[in-house]
Amino acid sequence: MELGVEGRAIFREDHNQFRKTVRIFFRREIEPNLKEWEKAGMFDPGLFKKAAEYGILQAGIPVEYGGMGGDFLHHAILHEEHGYNAAGASMGGGLGIDGSSYVIWAGGTDEQKREWLPRYASGDCIAEACFTEPQSGSDVAGFRTFAKQDGDDYIVNGSKVWTTNGSMCTMLPTVLKTEMGDGTVGMSIVLIDTDMPGVHVTKGIETLHRGCANEAEVFFEDVRVPRERLLGGRPGGGFKQVMSVLNDMRVVEASRFLAAAELAFSLTVAYVKDRKAFGQRIFDFQNTQFRLADIKTEIAVNRAFVDQCLVKAIEGSLTSVESSMAKLSASELEFRTVDQCLQLHGGMGYAHAMPISQIWTQARVHRILLGTSEIHRLAIGRSI
Ligand SMILES: Cc1cc2nc3c(=O)[nH]c(=O)nc-3n(C[C@H](O)[C@H](O)[C@H](O)COP(=O)(O)OP(=O)(O)OC[C@H]3O[C@@H](n4cnc5c(N)ncnc54)[C@H](O)[C@@H]3O)c2cc1C
Repeated sequence: MELGVEGRAIFREDHNQFRKTVRIFFRREIEPNLKEWEKAGMFDPGLFKKAAEYGILQAGIPVEYGGMGGDFLHHAILHEEHGYNAAGASMGGGLGIDGSSYVIWAGGTDEQKREWLPRYASGDCIAEACFTEPQSGSDVAGFRTFAKQDGDDYIVNGSKVWTTNGSMCTMLPTVLKTEMGDGTVGMSIVLIDTDMPGVHVTKGIETLHRGCANEAEVFFEDVRVPRERLLGGRPGGGFKQVMSVLNDMRVVEASRFLAAAELAFSLTVAYVKDRKAFGQRIFDFQNTQFRLADIKTEIAVNRAFVDQCLVKAIEGSLTSVESSMAKLSASELEFRTVDQCLQLHGGMGYAHAMPISQIWTQARVHRILLGTSEIHRLAIGRSI
């Protein structure tokens, strides 16, 4: 079985070729370095420039804006391949943070797109969207980071947390308030360089995950930001559009979660066909076959829905409820699956050297980030 391609009608030949390039990239540029990066607790930021040389960043952005001129499925493939490759589990958000450029693509002025998107494509700009604050994650209305207008500039004060790859980022599209009001009133996005005076980024929060992912805290202390850095050019302008991009991004991530579940399944099948107990292969126990049968079926059923959502994202008809359903379902399925797969590995499943253990820690957080499962249930529940 070739992971990720078999039986999926949504992909054309150019998508399949693109996937092959991403797989070569993982094999040549990531796998040989992984142990060293895990020791350092962070992968090399130079990886973004390497990825640019392979032409795999900004794949879905038009050529005139520095992209590859592909479509949203090319972008989805880059994310999925983090799921199909065991090294991807170690890298956490990995190269997938180039998805934050879609925030600029959706909400930026033409000038902002021309300035920033080519920099993402060349690997010169490494950026991740900063939403979550220490006192408020699910409750977006509770964000306190504030940008006060001062002549032609804004002065930003506040803090963010859990910024994926924060310590290697050169720029942070930051969600903040430019006007104090109820709910999301006065909410804007400002593009803040990490080397601007007053920006402090921590090395990273120690987590359950022992790979080479990095999640930073960010502090803004009287950071002077020129007005042109306001996304969309006017206060509050970019926020609504960005929320619709997040819908699409959740589906891309759902696709990655299913990819990781498929990888866990295939690693487990190989393991149980090799390992023996009580004079037979672990695979030969009926319990093992029943569990694998359920996993195979659930992944196939979920895959059909998520693929349908990916197509809707390209067509611009994906609803926020469908996006929530895809994210909720894929992340819960991924964790259930990976947990059972780890169980079928016995004690070896708990060893760091076994990829299944890294996939497990990564799957655990997928039920939390990009909106917790509870928040998505709330959103789906409201639509009923
Ligand atoms: C590894 C990792 C990477 C991340 N990457 C990023 C990133 O790059 N950028 C970024 O901005 N953020 C990032 N996050 C943050 C993530 O999006 C938040 O952790 C998530 O949105 C939850 O917010 P919180 O942690 O504040 O939890 P809280 O909002 O404090 O929630 C705590 C618990 O209460 C539940 N809860 C909250 N409200 C309700 C409700 N109304 N009804 C029922 N239950 C509720 C939640 O579901 C959860 O179980 C990352 C987090 C992690 C762990």
